Amino acid sequence: MNQEALKKIKTIIPLERIFTELAELYSYSYDASFGEYLPEIVIQPKNASEISELVKLANEYLIPIYPRGAGTSLSGGPLPVKGGMVLDMTQFNEKLVIDRENLLAIVSPGVITGDLHKKAEEVGLFYPPDPSSSHVATIGGNISENSSGPKGLKYGTTKEYVIGLEVVTPLGDIIRTGGKTVKNVTGYDITRLIVGSEGTLGIVTEVIVRLIPKPQARKTLLAHFAHLLDSGHAITSILSAGILPSAIELMDNACIRAVESFSPSGLPVDADSIIIVEVDGHPAAIDEEIKQCAKMCRNSGATYVKVAETESERLKIWSARKMVSPAITQMGPTKISEDATVPRSKIPAMMERLNRIRDKYKLNLVVFGHAGDGNLHPNIITDKRNIEEMKKVELAVSEIFEAAIELGGTLSGEHGIGTLKSPYMEMELGKSGLYMMKKIKEAWDPNNILNPGKIFPEKDQKRVVFV
Ligand SMILES: Cc1cc2nc3c(=O)[nH]c(=O)nc-3n(C[C@H](O)[C@H](O)[C@H](O)COP(=O)(O)OP(=O)(O)OC[C@H]3O[C@@H](n4cnc5c(N)ncnc54)[C@H](O)[C@@H]3O)c2cc1C
Repeated sequence: MNQEALKKIKTIIPLERIFTELAELYSYSYDASFGEYLPEIVIQPKNASEISELVKLANEYLIPIYPRGAGTSLSGGPLPVKGGMVLDMTQFNEKLVIDRENLLAIVSPGVITGDLHKKAEEVGLFYPPDPSSSHVATIGGNISENSSGPKGLKYGTTKEYVIGLEVVTPLGDIIRTGGKTVKNVTGYDITRLIVGSEGTLGIVTEVIVRLIPKPQARKTLLAHFAHLLDSGHAITSILSAGILPSAIELMDNACIRAVESFSPSGLPVDADSIIIVEVDGHPAAIDEEIKQCAKMCRNSGATYVKVAETESERLKIWSARKMVSPAITQMGPTKISEDATVPRSKIPAMMERLNRIRDKYKLNLVVFGHAGDGNLHPNIITDKRNIEEMKKVELAVSEIFEAAIELGGTLSGEHGIGTLKSPYMEMELGKSGLYMMKKIKEAWDPNNILNPGKIFPEKDQKRVVFV
């Protein structure tokens, strides 16, 4: 680290919020994805003006800046791939104000998303984006990744709820975008541009999100299928029947077996797949809707359908789904989590393609995901020390993305591009589409200070390299 720059940093931030020891730096060298990169310095800012000064200094000394929330990114988003400065935003978490009259919340970037859920629900309101990491991830990270979860099917993703932001630009200015009004058509929609920009266009320092009334009731069912394709057809028939469930989740046989051996809860290990369907809304309406969903599952070949009668039965159904991530982590030391997403009607076709890829490369590939919105999570469980297998994983990952794009889908439904999907960007966007995105980045960040090495592929990079 440039000593002159370090000296100046110490005049901006108190020493107890600056870390330079190797052991401290190491804690910030990884996220929940793949790869390790040591930063030169870690700083915990607590307000926008500290960040503004740091960014101006970084431009002066050309030091890369990597904003970081809780580090739960599955695509390498906060990794300091070019060294430099990591800004740990978790201590910037003071404000969590619920404005009941205007149906909104004003939140600091380091607030844990689960705390926002709780605070809103305490006053009968609801913040729908529900990534399964919400008990640890920060709202700043969610906004930068445009996160979502099972409820994305009915309620949409983070971007549908963010109406205003305070942002430190890559040149160190503090700007406000949007505001407290639900309607706002003044000029370009910079709020939407920042949401999902993965910390490459600005550092989010305050967030205004829309809240909605909490649904009165919900009903959940579990259905088993002897054939994965039948579950795909059940999903498409429910969605085309005019019912909009709040979630439809899918687990394949490998997932079911993983969950059962991790924490036995009576799942059918011989079923090819299971789906969970949840509807919410007015009690009378959801009684009727869940009955119809159950009927459509049976008509599509379900071998067993159970509608939860009590809250504890409902929670039991969901606990199996929530167990998937920890369970598959036990299947091998290295987990490559993908996030390919297809139009809903193409779920059965995508399932078939994934089966073919699994057989072709003989990999431990398990599939689960938010099938209702086409967002599947094929996970390859492997061991990064097995070089031969890792080479096969590289090829399989490319084929997963090719399949998703050929079926009219996208590289990422919720985990973002980061370092892990950047080589495939041109495959989805084309040369001109990628060029336009690069132009935006260059215009906003002429010194390439903010989160360099993300989203855009390095020259001639065509495939993710794991070995
Ligand atoms: C077990 C598990 C389950 C998950 N489930 C889901 C899921 O269901 N849905 C989903 O969408 N994701 C999921 N994720 C991925 C991850 O949790 C989300 O992407 C989350 O939004 C990241 O938040 P974070 O606070 O950990 O941010 P980080 O991982 O620290 O950072 C993510 C990105 O945001 C940027 N960033 C962070 N804070 C700021 C800020 N204030 N300003 C500007 N940029 C910033 C970083 O530079 C980085 O590019 C899961 C991850 C795990 C480990």
